[in-house]
Amino acid sequence: MRPLVVPFFIPHLGCPHRCVFCDQEKIAGARGALPTDAEMRERIGRYAESSPGRDVEVAFYGGTFTALAKRDQSALLGALQPFLESGEVASLRLSTRPDAVDAGVASFLKEMRVATVELGVQSMDEEVLRLAGRGHDAADTERAVGCLRQAGLSVGVQLMPGLPGDSPERSLATLHRALSLQPSFLRIYPTLVIAGTELARMYHEGSYQPLSLDQAVSLCKRMLLIARRAGVPVIRMGLQPTAELESPGVILAGPHHPAFGQLVESEICFDLMRLLASGLPSGSRVCFGAPAGRVSDLVGQKRGNLARLKELLGVEVEAVREEPSLAPDAISLQWEDGVLQARFDEL
Ligand code: SF4
Repeated sequence: MRPLVVPFFIPHLGCPHRCVFCDQEKIAGARGALPTDAEMRERIGRYAESSPGRDVEVAFYGGTFTALAKRDQSALLGALQPFLESGEVASLRLSTRPDAVDAGVASFLKEMRVATVELGVQSMDEEVLRLAGRGHDAADTERAVGCLRQAGLSVGVQLMPGLPGDSPERSLATLHRALSLQPSFLRIYPTLVIAGTELARMYHEGSYQPLSLDQAVSLCKRMLLIARRAGVPVIRMGLQPTAELESPGVILAGPHHPAFGQLVESEICFDLMRLLASGLPSGSRVCFGAPAGRVSDLVGQKRGNLARLKELLGVEVEAVREEPSLAPDAISLQWEDGVLQARFDEL
């Protein structure tokens, strides 16, 4: 069972950087303060009570944790040590920038029993990093991953396809370079234009165009398939919808969809369904079998995959049924002459 994550969003206290996609106005004011011991205790208790029996993982998100003053890092992680001792908290994770990690930082985190560090890598292309105003280069990422892995920490990598200067080829090259670092997992967040950012200014003046939703789904599909083949899980695609993000006027443009990850999964299913059905005569009536929990991925949003199969191949899908006996990476197609199966790694 996946651990129950107790999230704490760290304010970006005086971040000196100017990433074009980041809402500096909002963050530079460092709204809010670091969580107090009492707040952490209360939230951990509340979450644990809501899901008894599940392992609890405390996660510090949203900021550059290891760029906080050392005394703040020590205070936050120190306050959690008794919870780790007692078993009330099973693990700690935090997110940071690649250039805020070195061997000393990695061994400090290990000492404080942090299990997982997520690095905001965004791109491994030097020009994209420069145009995004990241203030670090790809070598910083390689060094950071090396230090963290050397210290025995699990490392997650966050990528942002669609930044200024990026292209599908560059995103895929970034992915391959990131995978060569053998991260434990990836998160892929296609770039969105958020009000108040430099990117919004560039968008309004016409010097930046985000990916369309279709382009982002198609690119993330390729990225997901490559990552899976490399054995690296992608634990999230697309930003988590939040009340703040969904407020009118916050997202100005870009491939935002509250179920972006499902759109990508569904697109992969469509490719496999199309592969299976491509040899059938037009007018065939078929049923698809889906592995456990994946019927809706095959059907697609608003039954779109079924409509597209009919339009492209003339194949009528009568039903999509869950087949628990199917391997999780396979789907089946039944039609009057028999049953066909295909696996996702055939794509
Ligand atoms: S995204 Fe960039 S600008 Fe925004 S807080 Fe992180 S490092 Fe600073």
